Amino acid sequence: MLGSLQLLQPTTVDEASGALRDFAERGKIYAGGAELLLLMRHGLLQSEILVDVKKIERLHRIARYNGTLSVGACVTHHALELNPLVREHAPSFAAAESQVANVRVRNQGTLGGNLCFNDPHSDPGTVLLIHNSTVTLGRQRGERQLPLKDFFLDVYETALEPDELLLDVQIPALPGGMMSAYLRLHRFQRPTLGVAVAIRMNGGTIAESRLAVGCIGPKCQRLSELETKIHGTQLSEAKRIVAEQKNYLWGLLRPVDDLLGSADYKLYMTGVMLGDALEQTARSDHKSH
Ligand SMILES: Cc1cc2nc3c(=O)[nH]c(=O)nc-3n(C[C@H](O)[C@H](O)[C@H](O)COP(=O)(O)OP(=O)(O)OC[C@H]3O[C@@H](n4cnc5c(N)ncnc54)[C@H](O)[C@@H]3O)c2cc1C
Repeated sequence: MLGSLQLLQPTTVDEASGALRDFAERGKIYAGGAELLLLMRHGLLQSEILVDVKKIERLHRIARYNGTLSVGACVTHHALELNPLVREHAPSFAAAESQVANVRVRNQGTLGGNLCFNDPHSDPGTVLLIHNSTVTLGRQRGERQLPLKDFFLDVYETALEPDELLLDVQIPALPGGMMSAYLRLHRFQRPTLGVAVAIRMNGGTIAESRLAVGCIGPKCQRLSELETKIHGTQLSEAKRIVAEQKNYLWGLLRPVDDLLGSADYKLYMTGVMLGDALEQTARSDHKSH
């Protein structure tokens, strides 16, 4: 299969973007290839030119500036799962990365490839939402930043322009005193459901919360209305409120029936797992004091 393909290996964003512009539909960005090569092998995607972005140095950087972690698009899931800075800065993100697929896919697949492919059954996006993460997109004409929540448009659809690359992801630290958890439900390798929760407790009540759910519908989403509803409640009350939000969750998350479960099952489990994640997070907050 690879014999009939031309492989370009640009070393700058300008070169890569120029190639995407020049070759248009004939060219595709190639990072780890975990998704791309699979699609091509099954004849679901045709491409004549692969623009391999792994030689662009910036896309491999992990660094922290002023409380925000910046992760290059070509950093692999496995590197993220093990990196001490990532584990310290965003432990739930590192935990989510450690649960992606299997070690072979984690070694091959990159964070950028995962976010740009935007398969609904993915882990990292959900937990990145509770960090209010942003992405930097680049092309020959310059760079722009976008909140991650606006980067995901729909199933397999993102805000990337045809000649744009995802360069890096900025992950701000959670506010002081906030603890977080990422829980995932899966029967096969791909997750059926992923929930990410961050809360700050004050005197037994929830002073601040961030909730996100992924996998069950077209894209992962923050549950802002529910965050407001559980504000100032005790843990047991918050769990009750979350379990009763079927209509809200249905309308927002638009769950679908698929091979990983029925929409009803996924919705029911969303309530259960949000409750579990709240409990786990509150318990870790208690232990840390
Ligand atoms: C068997 C299997 C199981 C999996 N299980 C899970 C799982 O449990 N959880 C989970 O989250 N994911 C899972 N995945 C998905 C996996 O994490 C992604 O496939 C992987 O991260 C994609 O990264 P890649 O570098 O291989 O992307 P590629 O396959 O190289 O590219 C994927 C897409 O993104 C585009 N792209 C890549 N990099 C960039 C960039 N920098 N800028 C713009 N566009 C870009 C490519 O053009 C292509 O369209 C699974 C995949 C497989 C094959």
